[in-house]
Amino acid sequence: MDQNTRNDLLQLFREKLNSAMTYYLETCTRCGICTEACHVYASMGQVKHISAYRHEIVRRIYKKYFKARGKVWPSVGEAKELNETALEELYESAYSCTGCRRCMVYCPFGIDTQMIMSIAKLLLIGAHSEPEILTLLADTSIEKGKSLDLFKESFMEGVKKLEKDVVKKWKMEAGETAIPMDVVGADLLFVALAGAHSIIPTAAVFNAAGEHWTLSFFEAVNFGAFVGDPTRTQLILDRILNEAKRLKVKEVCICECGTAFRVMKQLAADQPFKVSSITEVHARYIKSGRIKLDPSKLNGPVTYHDPCQIARNGGVFDEPRYILKHLTNDFREMSPEPKYNWCCGGGGGLVALGEDTLDFRMKSARVKADQIKTTGVTTLVTACENCHTQLNNLNDHYQLGVNVKFLTSMVADALMQ
Ligand code: SF4
Ligand code: SF4
Repeated sequence: MDQNTRNDLLQLFREKLNSAMTYYLETCTRCGICTEACHVYASMGQVKHISAYRHEIVRRIYKKYFKARGKVWPSVGEAKELNETALEELYESAYSCTGCRRCMVYCPFGIDTQMIMSIAKLLLIGAHSEPEILTLLADTSIEKGKSLDLFKESFMEGVKKLEKDVVKKWKMEAGETAIPMDVVGADLLFVALAGAHSIIPTAAVFNAAGEHWTLSFFEAVNFGAFVGDPTRTQLILDRILNEAKRLKVKEVCICECGTAFRVMKQLAADQPFKVSSITEVHARYIKSGRIKLDPSKLNGPVTYHDPCQIARNGGVFDEPRYILKHLTNDFREMSPEPKYNWCCGGGGGLVALGEDTLDFRMKSARVKADQIKTTGVTTLVTACENCHTQLNNLNDHYQLGVNVKFLTSMVADALMQ
């Protein structure tokens, strides 16, 4: 690595050094409490997957270039040179961490591995060593935001074709629009994922609740966040923020996508609308009597997998359980309790990387498969697209014999007219 490249990368590192990050980099006592916390280590038993080991690679670079002792006497400061070998280690560390933050809950100092890994991911981007497909997908999303007029009509035509399937789930009066779009003054903007499965059931529930809603032109997923690029993350988010402000909505509701929800919640705190997950909105409809659900639709024992970005990192624990109480009489909680739930193993961009990561995803989530098996359920519910894909893969790989379902589709299928 030439000195200019190294200097550029160190500048990126420097920009990440706010007070929280400095605290995380300087506080680890190597107490070892987090050792068993990471699902990757618990499943595979390799030291390189202990969370404290992951940050040590970043910390040693920090010691070499940002701490006086590391600069003067590297061996004492355990300083590490930033070179190609270091980049390879950073890649392995960052792209085997799902950012689930389970280790943070165990650490007595609350050290946030996901934050520390954000330095690793940023250095990889600076060195053009990140997974290229994630950057390409992020750029495609950004381009879509710049050229809304080009695809608006065709998108609306495509959405129109889904309306008959929405009406099959919830009958409407003649002349009513099953999937409203571009409605200025709507109360709620719904941001879905690409694909009918994310739009049809939710549209039926909104209509059943009599919601004054409108569908976003943009998909919720934020590939900028997966690849750890703050600029791309913000640009992808801005498309939705601008749309919400243009339509003057009071609430932005994010579909079953954990990362999209966490990013919107964290980065849109000062906006003139509130941010909700679809799970929170559905629980609210049930509580206020706006929708009624038929519990006889679901047979057999049921459990719920908390998506890390919605529950541990987004604070939504109670709402899915409240909804499930209205859908089944046989809900079985996983052990350990939700705050300490094992990650499904698919976050941090790993599911988005598809077949390339499949073998690792299966091996690193053995503890998740065991956790599900112990419940003895036949239905496994979740509220995140990434988790749903990963849990389906685990179901096949470990022959769990469960039916993996989206919570939103279950609500739509149980609507009482
Ligand atoms: S629990 Fe916290 S302080 Fe202890 S080794 Fe892990 S990261 Fe370091
Ligand atoms: S954030 Fe999750 S995946 Fe990453 S080290 Fe911590 S427990 Fe492991």
